[in-house]
Amino acid sequence: MNELNQACEAFRALLEEQLARIEHMDSTKVDFSSKPVVTIGIIDGDGIGSIIMAHAVKVLETLLADEIAGGSIVLKRIEGLTIENRMALGQSVPADVLAEIKTCDVLLKGPTTTPMGGKMESANVTLRRELDLYANCRPVSIPEKNIDWMFFRENTEGEYVLGSRGVELPGMAVDFKVTTDAGTRRIARAAFEYARNNGKTRVSIVTKANIMKKTDGKFTAIAHEVARDYPGIEVDDWYIDIMTANLVNEAIRDQFQVVLLPNLYGDIITDEAAQIQGGVGTAGSANIGDRFAMFEAIHGSAPRLIEQGLGDYANPASILKATAMLLRHICRTDAAQRLEQALDGCKLTVDVGASTGAEFAEAVLQAL
Ligand code: NAD
Repeated sequence: MNELNQACEAFRALLEEQLARIEHMDSTKVDFSSKPVVTIGIIDGDGIGSIIMAHAVKVLETLLADEIAGGSIVLKRIEGLTIENRMALGQSVPADVLAEIKTCDVLLKGPTTTPMGGKMESANVTLRRELDLYANCRPVSIPEKNIDWMFFRENTEGEYVLGSRGVELPGMAVDFKVTTDAGTRRIARAAFEYARNNGKTRVSIVTKANIMKKTDGKFTAIAHEVARDYPGIEVDDWYIDIMTANLVNEAIRDQFQVVLLPNLYGDIITDEAAQIQGGVGTAGSANIGDRFAMFEAIHGSAPRLIEQGLGDYANPASILKATAMLLRHICRTDAAQRLEQALDGCKLTVDVGASTGAEFAEAVLQAL
């Protein structure tokens, strides 16, 4: 009984904390077109992180050489977000590292390892929460198959916000899923704004609202409420199970354009979408908030690649696509376009027996 009371107390504290979180949501946006100095934080991460990040930094230094020399762009290296340091300190993002990160405007980040089990939260979950990076934007494009998808995954709520704060009773474990009005409204608005500004005519809302009636039910209802402000855009609803099938259904998949989802479904389905594109090594992603933004590959630190001595075959296309998204975000549109064109034009395959990541990156640099 004592354990039950403790669990109820823990739940109460979580509810209070979540209510306080939505009270303090800020929506002041940074205007990068007029900001005199933009600081880009560079974080290597773990595993293949330092290998692919080295290529991305070279590309940034090449594309932004004049602005770096003139001081309007600062590349700031941030150390200490390694699994060794985080484990030693018992902090998913050490306090001094977080303070450094908050001095930057945007981050380019290599993948970070999260230990399975235990209490350590994922560094990404911590960063998304601490920097309020609510929109995870993941593009997938296969022109020859007429596929051009943009996923808008809610990034600060759902199953992840309290993912390491579940409760355990003898013989039972419970995790929590959180969906708020304000959190849903801002990701839905981001998706519809993107659709409107990029000539897209359809937004697909994907949930499991038939089962998760409160949380996903709210997500769907609020997304439709926001949709009313965008009358030219068609809106449809799908359940995540059939949507996973839709992405491999060649008869209909090219009709999807912008896809709006809660956190967990977005995490899972975008790996599927990336695999259709050519593997997780080909997919970049943006984590956007109003004040900060973080750009990274969608994949992890690939520990098996490192264990097998195959780090040279880590594909940098993922982090280079994220780099192009970063450049667009900070209004360096010409540089972004140059990088996108160089990436589109690079036909090398990164794999054992084909090209190394360094060869791929060199070909991109040559094409810039
Ligand atoms: P993973 O994405 O690291 O690897 C999945 C598969 O993809 C592996 O076969 C790997 O070799 C391959 N792969 C990944 N990136 C590649 C690249 N650039 N080029 C070629 N092949 C590539 O997934 P995982 O093994 O489930 O996770 C490893 C660690 O990464 C875990 O600790 C996990 O928590 C963490 N992770 C971090 C992030 C992040 O920082 N954004 C994202 C996902 C997973």
